[in-house]
Amino acid sequence: AKAQGRNRLSVFDPGLESAILAQASLLQDLRQALPRRELVLHAQPIVDETGAVRSQEILLRWAHPTRGLVSPGEFIALAEQHGLILDIGNWVLRRTCAWLAACGRDPARSAWTAAINVSVRQLRDPGFVDAVLRALAETGAPAHRLRLELTESMLLTEVDETIAKMSRLREAGVRFALDDFGTGYSSLSYLRRLPLDELKIDRSFIADVAGEGNDGVIARTIISLANSLGLSAVAEGVETAEQFEALKALGCHAFQGYHFGRPLPLADL
Ligand code: C2E
Ligand code: CA
Ligand code: CA
Ligand code: CA
Repeated sequence: AKAQGRNRLSVFDPGLESAILAQASLLQDLRQALPRRELVLHAQPIVDETGAVRSQEILLRWAHPTRGLVSPGEFIALAEQHGLILDIGNWVLRRTCAWLAACGRDPARSAWTAAINVSVRQLRDPGFVDAVLRALAETGAPAHRLRLELTESMLLTEVDETIAKMSRLREAGVRFALDDFGTGYSSLSYLRRLPLDELKIDRSFIADVAGEGNDGVIARTIISLANSLGLSAVAEGVETAEQFEALKALGCHAFQGYHFGRPLPLADL
């Protein structure tokens, strides 16, 4: 009876119940976010050794009418679980390509590339390659200025299909980055097979890169791994001048983080 009471307690836990209700109402609002034009794109610069901007990572935000600006960490998983990510991802892709095409008409930005985050559901969709090619063709954005960021866990299953899709897009000029590198399974054998261009070193290895601990060793190893595979290494989450200097000394050539700029609304750039 006691155990049953405990079960009952957990089922009717008011904290849990309100969390479930909050998720349900968030989902209801999320279904309306695209038609109500509440999604916005922010961009964060990726710089070279001199600090010059080379690229922008496009980061999604949701301008919720009452909750304020909602970060992707709070709604991407929900969008994936409920089949909303295809429409949202397509919107990100098309808006980014339109912006890239506009950058091409501005001499100060015509060499910039833009990186977008692709969800596993998008990559697995049979129409993915065509959706990317169509977005490029319809906006006039050059394919070589678009980068797609994938994560390791997405590349562990359906490997041959994934390689085929990546190869078709790469033949068109699209580049690929492996995001959050070092946090996943990091099987080195699959790395060689994948048609990648960049490894993005997860920011957890950058935090203490200028210190005495192991993070410097890991960052150094990832950078030399990237170099020996012919990939470029991008350091994420660079927050201080010390980290920037340490990474340059390790042979890294591309950097992203609050030290260079926070994500800003694309419309304000
Ligand atoms: P991510 O791809 O690893 O993006 C980098 C995250 O680190 C961003 O968080 C960015 O604001 C944050 N960041 C950048 N520099 C620094 C720094 O110096 N220090 C610290 N502490 N953080 C920094 P954000 O914008 O909240 O995005 C979180 C995640 O949401 C992204 O992680 C990405 O996985 C996902 N995401 C964002 N936009 C999209 C999208 O359009 N589609 C999909 N599928 N996922 C997205
Ligand atoms: Ca990313
Ligand atoms: Ca990342
Ligand atoms: Ca991440």
